[in-house]
Amino acid sequence: MEIKTSDMGLAARVANVTKTYGDGAGSVRALSGVSVGIRRGEFTAVMGPSGSGKSTLMHVMAGLDQPTTGQVWIGDTEITGLGDTELTLLRRRRVGFVFQAFNLVPTLDVAANIRLPYDLDGRRPTAGEQKRIDGLVEALGLGARLAHRPHELSGGQQQRVAIVRALATAPDLVFADEPTGNLDSRTGREVLAILREASRTHGQSIAMVTHDPIAASHADRVLFLGDGRIVADKPRQTPEQISEHMLRAETSGQEAAA
Ligand code: ADP
Ligand code: MG
Repeated sequence: MEIKTSDMGLAARVANVTKTYGDGAGSVRALSGVSVGIRRGEFTAVMGPSGSGKSTLMHVMAGLDQPTTGQVWIGDTEITGLGDTELTLLRRRRVGFVFQAFNLVPTLDVAANIRLPYDLDGRRPTAGEQKRIDGLVEALGLGARLAHRPHELSGGQQQRVAIVRALATAPDLVFADEPTGNLDSRTGREVLAILREASRTHGQSIAMVTHDPIAASHADRVLFLGDGRIVADKPRQTPEQISEHMLRAETSGQEAAA
């Protein structure tokens, strides 16, 4: 795959990626030739019907899952074919995730879960980093929960802890799969404001899967997936434009299936 100048300065990129789960008659094609980049410092929303491949794309881009074919880069480093150790280090230093499947450590309290990325990297937060963590804990209303274990928290509180943990080290790249899914609307808005601030003020690159047109309207760019492909790539959209697009995509999907 040739690298074009327009590919430079991307925070992450996939080229011609396919992903098939299983083999033989029971196999499922989750991604069918996706080529897309996440631009640095941008807040990108990823939308699409259930089963369209959003979570698979996030996992592959974050280096948590291997594509069946195609290439993946984080920054300028091609991660397809990278060894486990190198990949783990790269992820730990540069990538934050808020994913259902990568939840909190049940035996650690909230403070220790948030500190985990530092502990794994064998260092302590600097004064500036600690200040940022304290600000996030405060903004997400977790101040009174620091000594609690995950099972003592509601789903929404656990999700907020995962968000603080993902942003704690101010990673270049943050992947979030439905980060506002379990939250009430006020807390959801707070999370969106934090993600937007992370891109605006800290120059972090954010890719967020959401079903919610209002949540997606906070993003600089909206990618629409359909049936394992990118079907549209748009600059900032109003919630109305996004809803209309989703509705059209679902209707044409039904026509195609009929
Ligand atoms: P989305 O996040 O858009 O709902 P996913 O990426 O989770 O979509 O799934 C895309 C397709 O791949 C779906 O048909 C789903 O059933 C299938 N799929 C996802 N994960 C697995 C898996 N681990 N094993 C088998 N099929 C899977
Ligand atoms: Mg999903």
